[in-house]
Amino acid sequence: MRAYILKERGHAEWTEDAPEPLLSEPYGAILSPVAVSPCTSDVNTVYGSGSEKPANLILGHECVARVTAVASRVRDFRPGDLVAVPAITPDWRAPSVQEGNDRHAGRPFSGNALGRSIPGVFAERFAIADADTTLAKVPEGVSLQDALMCVDVATTGFTGAEAAEIRVGDTVVVLGIGAIGLMAIQGAALLGAARILGVGTRPAGIALAKEFGANELLDYHNGTIVEQVLQRTDGIGADAVIICGGDDRSFSDAVDMVRYGIGRVVNLKHYPGDGGLAIPKFSGGRGMAGKTIKLELCRGGRSRMERLLRMVVYGRICPGKMVTHELQGLERVAEGLELMRNKPGNLIKVMVRV
Ligand code: ZN
Repeated sequence: MRAYILKERGHAEWTEDAPEPLLSEPYGAILSPVAVSPCTSDVNTVYGSGSEKPANLILGHECVARVTAVASRVRDFRPGDLVAVPAITPDWRAPSVQEGNDRHAGRPFSGNALGRSIPGVFAERFAIADADTTLAKVPEGVSLQDALMCVDVATTGFTGAEAAEIRVGDTVVVLGIGAIGLMAIQGAALLGAARILGVGTRPAGIALAKEFGANELLDYHNGTIVEQVLQRTDGIGADAVIICGGDDRSFSDAVDMVRYGIGRVVNLKHYPGDGGLAIPKFSGGRGMAGKTIKLELCRGGRSRMERLLRMVVYGRICPGKMVTHELQGLERVAEGLELMRNKPGNLIKVMVRV
């Protein structure tokens, strides 16, 4: 089978002899991609310095697919169904899920497996271990672009806004106006933020940031973002800061620019390297008080995905607008990955129709 694999760190390539996925009895399914999206975290898997990966790992975790086979005890899916495949695929049968640990059930990042620790979606076919708890049918009338942007980007950005516990009237800063930041902006707006400050200069992001709910865009060329936020909030700081982009300073900056007492910082960013994250001693509350920090990973699973798709069906979100580049043919995944790596200014997300 044809697949795009991580051959060695820094090098991905096509193979014609990837092993066929095995149907996992009794709950699994085999799927065939209809549209996929290469993502910055695929770039990190290939070019980053993260944990050791399985040999010849098939890459990719953002996919809308057609079900081609189901195992004996799958209830709700049949061959031919068009489904959104969540990027995060928790093992809902792990006991720790009952304690609410859906993203790391059993072991750290166990939900974050497709294209990282198990074969991903950049292939002619791939397997899911548990169809009924994982997949979501794409409702009638939902475009491929919208469904595809729900599987990782929308769920991640919304996780940021939800974890930040946005309240009506809040002032929210979103660091980064790439796809995740744009969805965090929209999530914050939908949850009732009064004032949303987006941070970023990428041309493709600016118009959508405004459309999705940002009141102002801050540019780091105009002084530090911390100063700009404090200036705009009478020195108090924002109620919540959601980190979706930036650099190694972004974490401590976020702690600096969120208000004392009830301020929340949510980090959704993957920091490459082993540098650690600094919490500023004084603005962080001298280690004792005042600011809440959460490190988050997006939610996965079927019901989460069905909820996001409902947001599309009823016109609350239109995440497909973030697809700025469309390519045709599975083999163009490689080109899509290069686009994500080089990020031209007019790019937010790439969709590859298979
Ligand atoms: Zn992704």
